[in-house]
Amino acid sequence: IQEAAANGRTVFSFEYFPPKTEEGVENLFERMDRMVAHGPNFCDITWGAGGSTADVTLDIANRMQNMVCVETMMHLTCTNMPVEKIDNALDTIKSNGIQNVLALRGDPPHGQDKFVQVAGGFSCALDLVEHIKAKYGDYFGITVAGYPEAHPEVILGEEGATEEAYSKDLAYLKRKVDAGADVIVTQLFYDTDIFLKFVNDCRQIGITCPIVPGIMPINNYKGFVRMTGFCKTKIPAEITAALDPIKDNEEAVKAYGIHLGTEMCKKILASGIKTLHLYTLNMEKTALAILMVISLSCSI
Ligand code: FAD
Repeated sequence: IQEAAANGRTVFSFEYFPPKTEEGVENLFERMDRMVAHGPNFCDITWGAGGSTADVTLDIANRMQNMVCVETMMHLTCTNMPVEKIDNALDTIKSNGIQNVLALRGDPPHGQDKFVQVAGGFSCALDLVEHIKAKYGDYFGITVAGYPEAHPEVILGEEGATEEAYSKDLAYLKRKVDAGADVIVTQLFYDTDIFLKFVNDCRQIGITCPIVPGIMPINNYKGFVRMTGFCKTKIPAEITAALDPIKDNEEAVKAYGIHLGTEMCKKILASGIKTLHLYTLNMEKTALAILMVISLSCSI
């Protein structure tokens, strides 16, 4: 990503999550093979909430790197993870030749409101970044999460986070980068101006690493409402106005999702940011259609 940014080359990446069944995993690999043919610079696999998918995530990451043969990044969270388990996961991916980790705190375990550090574990992503650097030196490329609207825990409601909470969040993000993170991938957003302001604010406080926008194309209305509710994402009025009359028409919602995703990506690329990260939700068509419209992919 740093190389591409230095050369002004546009790059994109695809994120996947571990399916619940073996059949789902096989379907995912078929889809991933087709998607990787379009040339992402990396693909990543999430770590299920609370570590629920640890074994499947490790296995999928291995197959991505060594069978799909795509540069792979594995997400890793601190939830329910004493340091031995964290090292076990890192040693496993290291021995499988994977060099990229998205270091996260994770959400509180199911049924708990607040994140509580597990005995012998870490309290935040900063601890995890520091640990990876101390134990593995420069072996891993480390990515961390950034929140253009501030972390959901400090988003109060319609009005969003206070200026003070947003600034605190940003200062903390800088600490993650100073501790050794190479790249920031952002939380999903639908107001591109908020993302561009966030990048500018990061630059103002001395964060110089690449900041990769996390784009979640709208695939269906219910999923969109669930995700944006969970992440407390601000939805611009024009998006609500466009979706309201078509929300029961799956095809129309998909078409709008492609249109919106395309417009967002075009605006981001026009601002000079040349990296796009697509939250695929394991779906192929919308992400590829967006890339085709913005001419990053030649065929579907
Ligand atoms: P941290 O960076 O540790 O911080 C969370 C917030 O807490 C900060 O923004 C800050 O406001 C506050 N904070 C924490 N420590 C300090 C401190 N020392 N000083 C000041 N403030 C502090 N979850 C999963 O379970 N699995 C995944 O695979 C996954 N992938 C994700 C990918 C991306 C790109 C993003 C954006 C999120 C992902 N998440 C995932 C969700 C993530 O785990 C949650 O948002 C979680 O609540 C916070 O994780 P974090 O790494 O951002 O936490």
